[in-house]
Amino acid sequence: MPAVGHEAPGESLEETVCRVCGQDDGTLLRDGYGVPLYVICDCCGIESGLGDDHLSKVRETRGYWVADGARWDVPSRRPENWDLLEQLSHIPAEWR
Ligand SMILES: [Zn+2]
Repeated sequence: MPAVGHEAPGESLEETVCRVCGQDDGTLLRDGYGVPLYVICDCCGIESGLGDDHLSKVRETRGYWVADGARWDVPSRRPENWDLLEQLSHIPAEWR
């Protein structure tokens, strides 16, 4: 298999966890090269690639979202026994 770019062979930059709210329904938000796929999160409503590229922006967006009641962008997708704090714990360490 040919090496791609500067990444180590076999290393994938795929992301399925929302950087802002930690939601993970298995939808690919960034592909194996880390390229954003512009998927809108059902939970916090952020779009991958728009507004989630910088830690300061991610933290700011998360802060406003939580302060506003952590409302789901698509309320019908909210699990019955959804736990905000539990979900926030899934945010990747580098985006906390
Ligand atoms: Zn989200």
